[in-house]
Amino acid sequence: MSAVEEGGQLPHRIELLVRHAYVITVDEAGRIFADGAIAIDRGRIVAVGDDAAIAARYQAARTIDAHGAPAHPGFVECHLHASFQTFRGALPDQLRETDAFDTFESVFFNTVTDEEEYLAVLLASMEMIRNGTTCFLEAGTVLAPAEAARAAERVGIRAVISDAFIWDQPQGMAQGMMGGAADPACPGCQAAARAHPVLRRAPRTREEALARMGGELHRNADADALVTGHIAILGLGTASETLMMEAKARADAAGVVLNLHQSYSPADTDADRRRFGGKDPLVHLAEVGFLDGNVTFGHANHLTDAECDAIVEHGPSLAWAPAASMMWGHGGSIHGRHAELWRRGANIALGSDSANWSNDFDLWRQANLAVLSARDSHGDRTYLIAEDGLQMATSAGARAAGMADRIGSIEVGKRADIVIHTLNRPEMIPTTNMIRNLFYSSRSKSVHTVIVDGKVVMDEGRLMGLDEAEALAEINKAAMAMLARMGKTIEPNQVARPGRQV
Ligand SMILES: [Zn+2]
Repeated sequence: MSAVEEGGQLPHRIELLVRHAYVITVDEAGRIFADGAIAIDRGRIVAVGDDAAIAARYQAARTIDAHGAPAHPGFVECHLHASFQTFRGALPDQLRETDAFDTFESVFFNTVTDEEEYLAVLLASMEMIRNGTTCFLEAGTVLAPAEAARAAERVGIRAVISDAFIWDQPQGMAQGMMGGAADPACPGCQAAARAHPVLRRAPRTREEALARMGGELHRNADADALVTGHIAILGLGTASETLMMEAKARADAAGVVLNLHQSYSPADTDADRRRFGGKDPLVHLAEVGFLDGNVTFGHANHLTDAECDAIVEHGPSLAWAPAASMMWGHGGSIHGRHAELWRRGANIALGSDSANWSNDFDLWRQANLAVLSARDSHGDRTYLIAEDGLQMATSAGARAAGMADRIGSIEVGKRADIVIHTLNRPEMIPTTNMIRNLFYSSRSKSVHTVIVDGKVVMDEGRLMGLDEAEALAEINKAAMAMLARMGKTIEPNQVARPGRQV
């Protein structure tokens, strides 16, 4: 990263100066400036250091006084279905996951309009900025990616987007079931797969998938673009090995990440194992050259020892989505290897997944669940500490999103994506230890001002790109109308139990 400091007479004129912040840089050295300042100009960080030294060198068009509150790099959300927000909360707790795919998500994708996707991503983007997330890696399910880009740009959040549903099986959410005919271990797989609804706007053939793949990469021609493109395939056994290898080749050629779901539940992991001749999925993918530093796997809840070794050796990223596993009882917090892999040096980022898998797009919550569940499952208070969670949500996230050269830490030359908290919250008092107060106590509650690409997108709690109340009312109306068009009535939670009726 080259310094962008200008020569000539002092003080330098810059656009924005953050003063008197407790600056948690999350740089390689883990530097913290207890009374720190960050100088920002033309979207980039031009200096960071002790307040008195920085203030003497720079004169800013605008100065933000943090009054001693913490500032840290914006969080990077690495597994997010950004358009599901319009049916948040619609799935009752008794719904089985296969039914959720078939009776809710599939119906949603066959109903949603481009404008509704725009509103859903607008809602997700507003929510993320409020919670201190400044960049998201979309999981490859927004049918109209240009609408996602338009929504992100309006709110001012950075987004890394792709084409939707890159797969070469014709049958919707039939995870890992289409290899069945040639698979003696699963004679009923294809018949079961055919029972799943078809997504009308998703590719039906490999040719269609290949024609769409990489459709958002054109955005990367502008090195300063807020919304950039990557390659995503849906994964979970929905892509043939041929399609997977072509996706990898295109990601390599474009210098972007390849993002896919992998080993989410025992079912899709077993299906992959069957189609890879009985080998552990990631062991097989390492052997064929797929497992690499530019691949980001969403979830990866079910891994063997051999797969963990392959991850450490080949360097892919995992986007750990603890709430999504807990929500549906997949055991990721009990059997998952994310924390162990992190301790071994693997790159572990964090993801919120989607509206009915964790319901809130708040990476603070994921970081907290990750750290605390790892301690619980390993019976060790020090297995992960708060700083691990902060790194996963920032620098590790930036790497998993293919953005490590631009974001993820507060360093000279990087894009200025910065979250400033307030101490004017009960949870932040007393000011004993900023990181512990932030991580265990306040989390996103104290997020006060958010800067993305050098621009203030939330100013002392107020979103700048839109009238929030007006937007929320419009989105709510559109979402409820869409649910009605989907033919959905919202059911209460109801589970029969011996001895207690809830
Ligand atoms: Zn997902």
